[in-house]
Amino acid sequence: MPIWNPWHGCRKISPGCQNCYVYRRDSQFGKDSSTVARTSAFDLPVKRDRQGDYKLQTQEMVYTCMTSDFFIEEADGWRAEAWAMIRARPDLHFTIITKRIHRFRVMLPEDWDAGYENVTILCTCEDQQRADDRLPLFLELPIRHREIIAEPLLGKINFDPYLSSGKIAAVTCGGESGDNARTCDYDWILEIRQQCVAHGVRFHFKQTGANFRKNGKCYHIERKFQLPQARRAGIDYDPAETFDSLFDRLAQSKFRSRFRLTEKDLQYIREKGVDTVRNHAEDFIRRRLAPAVIENDGKQTPMRGHPVFTAQHATATCCRGCLSKWHGIPPGRELTAREQQYAVSVIMEWIRRQCALPNR
Ligand code: SF4
Ligand SMILES: [Zn+2]
Repeated sequence: MPIWNPWHGCRKISPGCQNCYVYRRDSQFGKDSSTVARTSAFDLPVKRDRQGDYKLQTQEMVYTCMTSDFFIEEADGWRAEAWAMIRARPDLHFTIITKRIHRFRVMLPEDWDAGYENVTILCTCEDQQRADDRLPLFLELPIRHREIIAEPLLGKINFDPYLSSGKIAAVTCGGESGDNARTCDYDWILEIRQQCVAHGVRFHFKQTGANFRKNGKCYHIERKFQLPQARRAGIDYDPAETFDSLFDRLAQSKFRSRFRLTEKDLQYIREKGVDTVRNHAEDFIRRRLAPAVIENDGKQTPMRGHPVFTAQHATATCCRGCLSKWHGIPPGRELTAREQQYAVSVIMEWIRRQCALPNR
């Protein structure tokens, strides 16, 4: 995957920066990383070869600004030009990782609107404080594709309040590399994974880091094994796959598969917005599905009158009987917060797919 480093050099601003790999690598060459300078690859996205073809061929991802921070002050004078190149290449997708989300709006192009379609912003949160400092703002900013990166993960983090917004597409976790790497605990990773599963958010465990603790035992892991070990854990999660298999099963049920959103439902969603509909879904689930004892279980969800009701029947989240039969969540006890979030994410995914159907 191509990397585009329009400028090089950075200043440390966060606990995660302590053993920054840019500094580590530069110091091997006696270079000072704290000077930020444009690189010779500055215009890589629009560079052409002798045949006149773009050097960067249409690709899925271009990792952008990996030896600096795209939003660092020193680059304010260059960023407009960088954005212009990003806009000039809608056939590429630019992935930008930042610890300076608070500077996102500085030099933002005039035609940015709700965000360029070909840009994913990854907000780094290495600990709870950074998450709480950065994510409320991150969720407010006009960005089309938002992801979280928790690397190097320095402690337990509760992302629940942010993932529940439905605005985070993925979370990537990993430990720290290098001689002075701080320890990463597998339990922290697993806990974040659980949060992602509950909210139907993609999860990727990228690398163990050099010092990894599992079941209370510490391991030193050589660089070359840090990625493969993480892969071997086999804990990556992609809701699309889970949803696909669930929706395949639902499609085989005559009863479930006949539910559709009506034109009126779609109109309602357009008017209220998806966030409001999600709030309604959360409310319905909490009041009508979550209690341990439900007097009229099996009849608590009307057949129509709200897109969420229709979605509940379509996805078998309409009553505790269906929830047990289709989703393996037992009746007779209160639903946990995570189970409620799971039901909401299934409902919202069904609604999303309905809205995306052709001729709608
Ligand atoms: S923001 Fe990133 S590149 Fe800059 S010092 Fe911190 S870790 Fe290094
Ligand atoms: Zn039911």
